[in-house]
Amino acid sequence: MNVIDATDALRTQRTDFDSEKIAAKLFDDIASFSADKTGVSRPAYSKTETKTLEYLEAFALNLGLFVEYDAGQNAVFSLPKDAGATGYILIGSHVDSVPNGGNFDGLAGVIAGLMCLARANNEGTKFPRPVKVIAMRGEESAWFGPCYIASKALLGKLGEEELNAPHKEDGETLFAHMDAIGVDMERVEKQIPLLNSKDVHSYIELHIEQGPLLVEMGMPAAVISGIRGNIRYKKIRCNGEAGHSGAVPRAYRKDPVLAMADLLSRLDESWLTILQKGEDLVLTCGMVATDPQKHALTRIPDLVDFSIDFRSQSAQALDEMRELLNQEIRTVARERKVRFDLDPEMHTSPALCDAGMVEGLSAAMSRVSLEPFVMPSGGGHDAAVFANAGIPSAMVFVRNRNGSHNPDEAMEISDLIAGTDIIYEYLKGPVQ
Ligand SMILES: [Zn+2]
Repeated sequence: MNVIDATDALRTQRTDFDSEKIAAKLFDDIASFSADKTGVSRPAYSKTETKTLEYLEAFALNLGLFVEYDAGQNAVFSLPKDAGATGYILIGSHVDSVPNGGNFDGLAGVIAGLMCLARANNEGTKFPRPVKVIAMRGEESAWFGPCYIASKALLGKLGEEELNAPHKEDGETLFAHMDAIGVDMERVEKQIPLLNSKDVHSYIELHIEQGPLLVEMGMPAAVISGIRGNIRYKKIRCNGEAGHSGAVPRAYRKDPVLAMADLLSRLDESWLTILQKGEDLVLTCGMVATDPQKHALTRIPDLVDFSIDFRSQSAQALDEMRELLNQEIRTVARERKVRFDLDPEMHTSPALCDAGMVEGLSAAMSRVSLEPFVMPSGGGHDAAVFANAGIPSAMVFVRNRNGSHNPDEAMEISDLIAGTDIIYEYLKGPVQ
């Protein structure tokens, strides 16, 4: 795994700490053992995920950092003097990825935290508050359905339904997968937090931007004001009636695809109205399918399955959209003589970043000669779980091309270091 090479690179750079070189090596090594047909695959609660943590552990131990595993089997790193500290600032993100995903989503935040510790160790910097770095497991919903699994388990928020969710490939439950790698399932099941949240002063997460704003604006990094919450239906089934495409007149049709299209265009119109009122909202129907066993060019389908994902920074806007969805479903079902069946709703509340931390990170941004810039986060992150558990939380985004959750994620290591410098400067600064 060449951990020693990365450590040696660091040791030879004692006077001129080369964060870029070390970070690049860590990303390359981890990509090499998690490579898939395209991009990387680091499934939640898998052996590859464990190997990633072990690799980071070996790297940190070689640097003289302290490493331990918490009851959720996440790796936690600190300077040796802070091993038993309370009132610490926690820096973290996740090491899992979506299938055939990019190498930077999640891992960038863990490496940024480790670079802060490595640099402090190297320069002899004394942060006013103890700092710990957490490399969390399962965050991506792609493997089991639920998202933010590790952070929810840490804070006692993982529900029974989520624990019963089957893995997309082997069908085994999330409970079984977590149990197999040694997570304390007795506490998880009883929703007893695995982390004493009183010990955590605040939480900071660096993440690649998943949209185009920073590239468009020519800025390497930004501080985040808040994280959109979401309401999701993985599957909505519209049931109609099959028929011959040439033989059934319009008045006699029960066409589920046109009913779905009608519903979506009604929601789209309402979306525009909500935006015009100045509220934050995005709406996506990312999966649409008629039954491939039966569908044909000349057949009115009997059913169509589709997904809906609403996101907003406002809990009220999400509630309005849920209400509106139900209303429109009743109208379309009546007018088009179809029936909609909805899978259970998956829901994550919006989360606001801590105003004091946003201010502190923006000030740190100026101190490292970057123009302070604050923006909202469109994607969800573990930081939302910490914030909603009452732990003051903040995020830093790093410029990245081509979105995320795909092998074409393109983050420059120099931009990651710019984002890391903001956090390092914040940790050194007047943290209360
Ligand atoms: Zn992520």
